[in-house]
Amino acid sequence: MKLELRDITKRFGSLVANDSINLTVESGQIHALLGENGAGKSTLMNVLFGLYTPEEGQILLDDEEVTFSGPGEAMAAGIGMVHQHFMLVPVFTVAENVILGHEPTKAGGVLDLGAARKLVRDLGQKFGFDIDPDALVADLPVGVQQRVEIIKALSRNAKILVLDEPTAVLTPQETDELMEIMRELAKSGTSIVFITHKLREVKAVADTITIIRHGKVVGEASPDASTHELATMMVGHDIQLIVDKADREPGEVALEVDNLTVFDVNNQKVLDDVSFDVRNGEILAIAGVQGNGQTELVEALVGLANKVKGEIKLYGEPIQSASVKKILDAGVGYIPEDRKIDGLVGDFSIAENLMLDRSNGKPFVGGFFTIDTKFRDQFARERIEEFDIRTQSEKTLAGRLSGGNQQKVVVARELSRDLKLLLASQPTRGVDVGSIEFIHERIVAVRDAGLPVVIVSTELDEVLALADRIAVMYKGRIVDIVPGKTERAKLGQLMAGVQE
Ligand code: ADP
Ligand code: MG
Repeated sequence: MKLELRDITKRFGSLVANDSINLTVESGQIHALLGENGAGKSTLMNVLFGLYTPEEGQILLDDEEVTFSGPGEAMAAGIGMVHQHFMLVPVFTVAENVILGHEPTKAGGVLDLGAARKLVRDLGQKFGFDIDPDALVADLPVGVQQRVEIIKALSRNAKILVLDEPTAVLTPQETDELMEIMRELAKSGTSIVFITHKLREVKAVADTITIIRHGKVVGEASPDASTHELATMMVGHDIQLIVDKADREPGEVALEVDNLTVFDVNNQKVLDDVSFDVRNGEILAIAGVQGNGQTELVEALVGLANKVKGEIKLYGEPIQSASVKKILDAGVGYIPEDRKIDGLVGDFSIAENLMLDRSNGKPFVGGFFTIDTKFRDQFARERIEEFDIRTQSEKTLAGRLSGGNQQKVVVARELSRDLKLLLASQPTRGVDVGSIEFIHERIVAVRDAGLPVVIVSTELDEVLALADRIAVMYKGRIVDIVPGKTERAKLGQLMAGVQE
């Protein structure tokens, strides 16, 4: 099915999120929508999906104008959407999730569990998925959950499938598999709108690329355009994606981890005899496919682990049994893996979020425990400026910001502490390329100021861009620690647990 969006304008108060946007997606094509955070991509797709009513503009499906007053109508017309944050019910099985919310169709009647199971298997076979229809969604890796979302959309006969930042949570392998699935879907006639900030992926899979910036279409490009050209169009100025490696020798050992073993609540070993150290003025990257102990390692470093054996020393001081508060107060800047859970309070303003964890003393809190709101708001305005947080004011609720801007709030807060160590887990997850460049620069600045930095990333590009040394994790162990300029292929092998 062909999709045409004509002159779509969508405002939120005085903010024009979509400014007369035109987009044509031909039948069976993979059309990439590229844009910085806050550019208006999700808004445009929410207009298409009937979640927002645009102030102006038309939606045409196969040259016929349509209007949707809700997602139900959009789905009935053949539009499927996979949101960045999945909408599955974790305690239900795959097949149950596929049925959920299914409107009885005139032709097929109500989809029953047996039919849903068969559908999951059939679609799996057709598009190369491998999913057990009776598996609990909670037990599935993120990449597989995403396939369940895709199956769900296809089970409602989606002819146009919108994937909003689908690779943000995937491993390199899962991403490759998703791209293969997208190609198969397109071949079978499904039109795909693919939202991403990852230029490598756009170039690998898109037939056409539309770039939007500040709510406007700034151009179309072919996947043959260079990465540099695409990045520059998206950001609006020339950008340099390469970060300099440390040009001086790192200093003394700052963080020392010796024979660290961690047990979960069921007394299962989740981290197995891990040892490494990090020096001042050095970035150590922890690489690995998601779920190989990285989360548990970071939790142990910030005092969140259930039960640990072994030793963690920060400048000689053992901290393995210290509380989270004590560790953070000791000067550990912590950028958590999931900003929605550990990093931000969505219902608090940006200014309030910027002083989170620091409400127990100066400079934020004055006499009689009253918050110095003047200082706080001034501090927030300065961070907003410095970190280029796109928002109307410091009073805006953090939950209202786009993902990349939320991440900048977390980064701004953690980097404006009195730091002794920076621990950054997936620091640019779900963030567009312009913001990635910015966050990377800030992390490198911390290193260049002579501080030790640990980053944990499942993105090989990120690891290679930042690391002075790389520790690769596999099944709860560190399989090897290699130099920052190690080849991608070698790292891929280590990530798969292959040792020489
Ligand atoms: P993208 O998906 O490209 O990152 P969005 O479409 O989410 O961008 O956001 C575009 C702009 O609209 C941003 O400035 C964002 O803060 C704003 N925005 C999005 N949704 C809302 C909303 N429900 N209310 C107010 N502003 C919003
Ligand atoms: Mg978005």
